[in-house]
Amino acid sequence: MQNRLNPFRIIRPQPITAWYGNCTACNRPEGGALCPTAANPSGVQGQVMPMEELGCSSGWGVRVKGEQGKREDRRLAGVCGLANSGNSCYMNAVLQCLFSTVPLVEHLLSSDKRSQLAKRNSPVAGVFVHLLQEVWQGQRGTSFTSPGEMRALVSSLHPQFNNQSQQDAQELLLLLLNALHDDLKNKGERHQTRSSQRLCLGRKSLSSAPADSTAVTRLFEGQLSYQMLCLRCDGHSHSNQVFTILSLPIPLDSYKCSLQDCLSLFFQQSTLTCGDQKLCPECGVKRDTAVLTSMAKPPEILVLHLKRFGCHGSEKRKLRTNVLFSLDRLDLNPFLSRPSANHTSYSLYAVVNHTGDLDMGHYTALCHSTLSSSWHHFDDTAVSEVVDFLVQSPNAYILLYSRQPFHRPSIPRI
Ligand SMILES: [Zn+2]
Repeated sequence: MQNRLNPFRIIRPQPITAWYGNCTACNRPEGGALCPTAANPSGVQGQVMPMEELGCSSGWGVRVKGEQGKREDRRLAGVCGLANSGNSCYMNAVLQCLFSTVPLVEHLLSSDKRSQLAKRNSPVAGVFVHLLQEVWQGQRGTSFTSPGEMRALVSSLHPQFNNQSQQDAQELLLLLLNALHDDLKNKGERHQTRSSQRLCLGRKSLSSAPADSTAVTRLFEGQLSYQMLCLRCDGHSHSNQVFTILSLPIPLDSYKCSLQDCLSLFFQQSTLTCGDQKLCPECGVKRDTAVLTSMAKPPEILVLHLKRFGCHGSEKRKLRTNVLFSLDRLDLNPFLSRPSANHTSYSLYAVVNHTGDLDMGHYTALCHSTLSSSWHHFDDTAVSEVVDFLVQSPNAYILLYSRQPFHRPSIPRI
């Protein structure tokens, strides 16, 4: 499916050793040749090359002269296309977002963690780390790699993904986080059954005990607080629930809203009745209950899923509302249980986009690179640098924010 974003070529300031050109083999828009002199103030010469000449059937890349004038192919570390193994764009988009999560990348590519994983049965983490190595530390002349082994592994563990139907990217994201969490736990015992059960939780949590803490839970897990009021006896009760992905409702009958509107809708007071009644400790039976939700512990990585797919009466539909979101100043203070002056704003670093309809669509990803301080659009094997304002679009489906701005990854060979 055609990409709705227009890939832009960016001429970047110093230091620069390469610029990015589109592949002539994959029919991406060609914006005209860039001037090597203008693009490379440092004096490094280069030219946009058809990908066939770089040994690829599709994708993007550049060829530049190295330090001794030797020609070599380069791409930015961490910026690598993914081959589509048959309607697997949903997986590719999710993987690109995880590949751009710098603290997770650093953790998994540390020598200690790699040697730990090599000693025990950790199939998903093992394949994931192998892909990370290719994307971050692999040969720069290879413009894309294949996640086929991951696709086969996920399909074997979860047969619902073993077909050519369109899948939900946020379900796969949660599944991958669950699987990575299971593999990273310091236990020989595996917990596939518990993982499957966790998938059914309404707020989608990994629900780990402290002993089960992993890099996945430390980064992605937050905690919600529920203040409940029995509408019969006015008795109060309280509970907490961990979460990994917040599924946010989108205001209906509006073509445009803000992300804050969606968050306000999620956190607004609600009344649980009929089958949703809660057990009142005072009455001893289920009662109509008023619930006030707040965030007790904001996560380091905040994953927001916009609920675009749903039902309107008996009709299934996709909401195409343009949800306006901030790239660098998402403030959760209004929704925290204990608002804090020290709370820092969240910065957006990755987006999963969905174009198309309910049954026929296409997933792509937009990810920010700390190495180039720029955004890239990942459409399977096709990768292009895009200007910041193109990150905002009505196609946004999953937003990944970081509480701490990412720094340059501290990993070897980048
Ligand atoms: Zn009561």
